[in-house]
Amino acid sequence: MSCIFCRIVKKDIPAEIIKEDENIIAFRDINPKAPIHILIVPKKHISSLNELREEDKELIGQIFLFVKDVAKELKIDKGGYKVSINVGEGGGQEIFHLHVHLLAEKRQ
Ligand code: AMP
Ligand code: ZN
Repeated sequence: MSCIFCRIVKKDIPAEIIKEDENIIAFRDINPKAPIHILIVPKKHISSLNELREEDKELIGQIFLFVKDVAKELKIDKGGYKVSINVGEGGGQEIFHLHVHLLAEKRQ
């Protein structure tokens, strides 16, 4: 069975999707650690940052541009926000499908 984020990508399980394109999806974290907590996820299954390959170079750039666009759409770009990636068990990673956390306290 595919991983939980692959199932969200395939719409097999629901998520509160904020933005989506051909390669990337952003949805609300089910257990938010801040008033605004979004996960930005490549549709391609990459298990962690450790598994990133040279061929993913363009995708990783697209992910960060996507983060910026989501922040702007949620109107947290001016006030500021935090971006983080947990890597491996020691880094607090629970879902082994690469994702970026976008956290903010409030909209302006
Ligand atoms: P990490 O610890 O970096 O692997 O983060 C995994 C995140 O995924 C956690 O913040 C969880 O709350 C979140 N999460 C787990 N299952 C779901 C789900 N079905 N929909 C949305 N977020 C989820
Ligand atoms: Zn996956």
